[in-house]
Amino acid sequence: MKIVMLGAPGAGKGTQAKMISAKYGVPHISTGDIFRANIKNGTELGEKAKKYMDQGLLVPDELTLALIMDRFAQDDCKNGYVLDGFPRTIAQAEALTKSLKDNGDALDMAIDVDVPDENIIERMGGRRACVNCGGTYHILFNPPHRAGFCDLCGGELSIRKDDLPETVKKRLTVYHEQTQPLIDYYTGEGILRTVDGTKDVNEVFAAITELLA
Ligand code: AMP
Repeated sequence: MKIVMLGAPGAGKGTQAKMISAKYGVPHISTGDIFRANIKNGTELGEKAKKYMDQGLLVPDELTLALIMDRFAQDDCKNGYVLDGFPRTIAQAEALTKSLKDNGDALDMAIDVDVPDENIIERMGGRRACVNCGGTYHILFNPPHRAGFCDLCGGELSIRKDDLPETVKKRLTVYHEQTQPLIDYYTGEGILRTVDGTKDVNEVFAAITELLA
């Protein structure tokens, strides 16, 4: 099973990708998480990526592609994956199609978690992430059991720098300019499916499992 999750930042595709990963036993690969782990560990890649991420801009394709190709080569990707936050540009999507094709392979589905911009801005203000393990929450829609602390590891929750209001607006502009064209790209490939991302987390997941059945 090889799936791409599409949708604006804050549409909930990360949450859905984690749920797909748990149900179907394929790794959840988030380029954003990999970049954040690199920043946390002070790597050279992290240092380069941070400059773009803090401004709400995309990390350049060469860096992102090198990183993801490396990840695909790991053993746990043999039976597939659910991609969250990659591809984000047409160049990335074409590179992914080509690398799969070279191995006689292809994606099974691209799932667009559709949410209007107004809802996105409201949602992003409530997002919190664990400073320790990266677990994500929302103060209204997906609150932790104990306010301010991660359910998974007990770490402290904070607002990511790129979830601050000005950065969110920039990220939405970047999304419309660079990532939304992927909807047409995957429609053209015949594998695009859309779910209504304004619904409750579990309802969205039920719609996705129906698509994957
Ligand atoms: P995310 O957690 O997916 O919202 O990603 C956070 C940030 O990481 C984005 O705003 C970009 O700066 C960077 N990023 C993540 N994935 C990609 C990608 N596929 N291409 C370029 N930049 C990315």
